[in-house]
Amino acid sequence: KSFNELDLTPIIVENITLAKYTTPTPVQKYSFPIILKQRDLMACAQTGSGKTAAFLVPVLNQIFLVGPQLASQDPKRPMGGRRKQFPLALVLAPTRELATQIYNEARKFSYRSRVRPCVVYGGADVGSQMRDLERGCHLLVATPGRLVDMLERGKVGLDNCRYLVLDEADRMLDMGFEPQIRRIVEQDTMPRTQDRHTMMFSATFPKEIQRLAQDFLHDYIFLAV
Ligand code: AMP
Repeated sequence: KSFNELDLTPIIVENITLAKYTTPTPVQKYSFPIILKQRDLMACAQTGSGKTAAFLVPVLNQIFLVGPQLASQDPKRPMGGRRKQFPLALVLAPTRELATQIYNEARKFSYRSRVRPCVVYGGADVGSQMRDLERGCHLLVATPGRLVDMLERGKVGLDNCRYLVLDEADRMLDMGFEPQIRRIVEQDTMPRTQDRHTMMFSATFPKEIQRLAQDFLHDYIFLAV
């Protein structure tokens, strides 16, 4: 199956073509229908499997669908722009490098739309990241520590977070991020498990990841590729 045979909205199919992706990888082929059906997902997939697009494409597709005004062809006027941002989708990643890669891929897939992705990570100037957020943010890619900082500063609210992705969950736990992750996901303002769509990606599936899946996912589908 090619990307245009999948149930995707035209703008994302165009952007996938521009990114020169022709055939979905196995993790993409299996995860798209699950995410498009709004089911929660626990996917065991390695780096290099195409797991980033496996969640970004269907999540951005849903964002384009829920906000047709967001998919407008006018790139000059991003939506939002209030001081505090309420992203529709949040992607947590363990490192600056991975967060940046995810962000760059999100930019490709949201090209020529009003959907604006942002990235925040530790070890870099918080002021410039805050100014970038102020320009509007629909999809936020973040490392856990820096996001806790942004939440405490009142720059980000999770009230509208309909899509939550934990990428390389096992690595985030290895790096000791569980308290920050729990603080983010168990925030009062974060929609409950039944009211959001949660996707976890992990290379391995040890006890600690199973526990996190139990706590964060609702009636989920398990996928191993
Ligand atoms: P990931 O596993 O998400 O880190 O992706 C690994 C690399 O494969 C990245 O450089 C992607 O841009 C690329 N990639 C992902 N999916 C596809 C696809 N369907 N066709 C061609 N390249 C892809």
